[in-house]
Amino acid sequence: MRRQYLSPTSSVSGSGELGGPAYLPRGQAHPGCAHCDAPLRPFLRLELPKSAQAPAQVLSVLMCAGHNEIPCFEPWRQLPPAYWDQAEGHWRAYLVEAGTGHESEGPACLQRQPMAWTAEPAADADGCIAVGGEPQWLQDPEAFTCACGAPMHFVAQVSDSYRFAQTPEAPEQPDGPYADGYVLFLGNEVYIFACSARCDPRAVWITVQN
Ligand SMILES: [Zn+2]
Ligand SMILES: [Zn+2]
Repeated sequence: MRRQYLSPTSSVSGSGELGGPAYLPRGQAHPGCAHCDAPLRPFLRLELPKSAQAPAQVLSVLMCAGHNEIPCFEPWRQLPPAYWDQAEGHWRAYLVEAGTGHESEGPACLQRQPMAWTAEPAADADGCIAVGGEPQWLQDPEAFTCACGAPMHFVAQVSDSYRFAQTPEAPEQPDGPYADGYVLFLGNEVYIFACSARCDPRAVWITVQN
């Protein structure tokens, strides 16, 4: 898939959504934060179209409203077994084949914003969410191998300090740059990878740079 951007749309059903329900594997309960037990908040959901290599899939990224930290402190390139349970416990990501999972919302703290694919980032946005193509690294390029031996392929990138609009009732995010919005992973540039063999719905890895 060549690089595209997610931009806000007025359509009710876009190619993705900020703040809407996560798409979890069938039978899995809504995940909680390993540090405080609070239900994780869905930040980002992306509908990835079917390709020659893969069926249509849905990527979900969730993070705790009360814990804001980078995804992992380990410098892994070869990811260890069940690496998704060995990262910091305040976030989760899932890549689930479309039609096989279920939506799970958790308590709202972010405003729901449907998003649509565009060839260019939204003109008024100082940040963007890019999908497909090649990552645009702020520092040295990174590459990862899944615990199953397959290479991790690049899925999406979220600009540093990308602001997720919060609901009026949501508490201010700790360690965030905004009084009225949330960021992912302290507002670092976020790079999302997934196992090219799709060995597990949680075989998703996130690295950050700044
Ligand atoms: Zn927490
Ligand atoms: Zn794998």
